[in-house]
Amino acid sequence: MTRKLRIGYGRICQETNAFSPVTSELEDFRRLHLMEGAELEAATSRRGSEVPDMIRNAELSGFRRAVRKLGQGRIEAVPLFSAWAVPAGPLSVACFEQLRDRLLASLRAAGPLDGVFLALHGALRGVAEIPEPEELLLAAVREVVGDEIPITVSMDLHGLLTPGKVEPLTSLAAYKTNPHRDLAQTGFRAGGILVRTALGQIRPTRAWRSLPMLLGGGLTIDFLGTMRPIFRRMRRMEREDPRVLDVSLFMCHVFNDSADLGWSVHVTTDGAPELAERIADEVAEMVWAVRNEPPPAFLPAEAGIEAVRKARLARRLGTVCVTDTSDVVGAGGTGENTRLLAALLEHARDLKSYVPVRDAVAVDQLWEQPLGSQVALEVGGRLDPVLCPAVAVSGTLRAKKDTGAFGRAVTLDLGHVQLILSEQAPLPIKPRFYREMGLEPWRADLVVVKNFFHYRLYYMGVHRKTVPIQTRGITDFEMVLEQQEFNDPVHPRDPVSDWRPADARRRGLVHS
Ligand SMILES: [Zn+2]
Repeated sequence: MTRKLRIGYGRICQETNAFSPVTSELEDFRRLHLMEGAELEAATSRRGSEVPDMIRNAELSGFRRAVRKLGQGRIEAVPLFSAWAVPAGPLSVACFEQLRDRLLASLRAAGPLDGVFLALHGALRGVAEIPEPEELLLAAVREVVGDEIPITVSMDLHGLLTPGKVEPLTSLAAYKTNPHRDLAQTGFRAGGILVRTALGQIRPTRAWRSLPMLLGGGLTIDFLGTMRPIFRRMRRMEREDPRVLDVSLFMCHVFNDSADLGWSVHVTTDGAPELAERIADEVAEMVWAVRNEPPPAFLPAEAGIEAVRKARLARRLGTVCVTDTSDVVGAGGTGENTRLLAALLEHARDLKSYVPVRDAVAVDQLWEQPLGSQVALEVGGRLDPVLCPAVAVSGTLRAKKDTGAFGRAVTLDLGHVQLILSEQAPLPIKPRFYREMGLEPWRADLVVVKNFFHYRLYYMGVHRKTVPIQTRGITDFEMVLEQQEFNDPVHPRDPVSDWRPADARRRGLVHS
């Protein structure tokens, strides 16, 4: 009997906001998902949960399903090391080295492998010494397993492709939904390509493009007008020609502080390199053609508050979700934005508002005080005193809770504003966030969500209208256009008529 083929699987995944003043440490991964060996095997099994209470099946569960369905009983899935953190600031050197060393140690301990599956994000960044940790990880993994073993990676569609991320791989596939609903399906699709490659059934050939263009978040929802026909076309390409294994489009996390920022396309075909090149060009042309769509308008604070005030019916039937677009925690915002709090305190006295602000120092000060205490203190200004200046507040301590994910948190009743202070970045994408702190979203005129899309799924019952408010912060698209240094002219900051020169330079086909 021939021996089983062995494919190792693991993950190092975080979306980085490189403008955040707070570095990411191993503890940030431990808080969400950090495991290896038998624990990883159990979490990715049919009955397991990759992130308990949050995400049951993600990429690695999808990969394992591909092994069961397509492996013909000839493949053994070997758990390696898996680390996942919520979006936040750049990795510290120590954090990167710990993650890398544990992944490599698990690879070496795994014994001889016939393939490696990794779930990466594609927009992981480190501090200045290690700007592209994913390039370093892939080079290190390649060195351990050698050149002959297929390596397949799944990525978030907000990843940024570079030669260092593309070239070490055998194949690559990204999510096709935004907000992301296909983590497990992507793991299955990418995993299926790897399984079939290991079995000798297919021979992946690839092409990719890097486009000098960025678009603001509101246009990139897969099921709305701008992008829907493009994703449908991509799916049809995969369906109609069996040689087309995967067509992926990367809509680029813009807070990455990369001089080669932009959208990318990656195509995997079976033994058909020219077909891959042709499809990559076709998808690149399709997205280039929509680059001039006007982005959705975000309102300054006072205009946004006025829009909430006018939404009387929405407030009576439920609540209005205010998207804090300058501090989107899902895009790496620190959660400390005090500008929106200050505006609501001053200009929204007739509206009942729920507002979260991250302030570990204030939580610590308030933690030992009895409920019902009258308190006066300054909040914010701890992580980024310039963008999030301290605000003086006074009110009544109403609730205290150790939330786990957001650390300890307290609720302060400031009159028309109910303020939640938390030790970690608050991610109030579910009404449960407020309910756990003693606040019922039904009763609010507005609740602040620090998220662009996902809250819509969870707030469906109470949410009647969204008002995006922009103050100033590290998740402002304008900030990127102002501060980011680019190697090429980039749309929409610069007029660019042809994407090809930048693409050729970025892929290393010509030298600038
Ligand atoms: Zn994403």
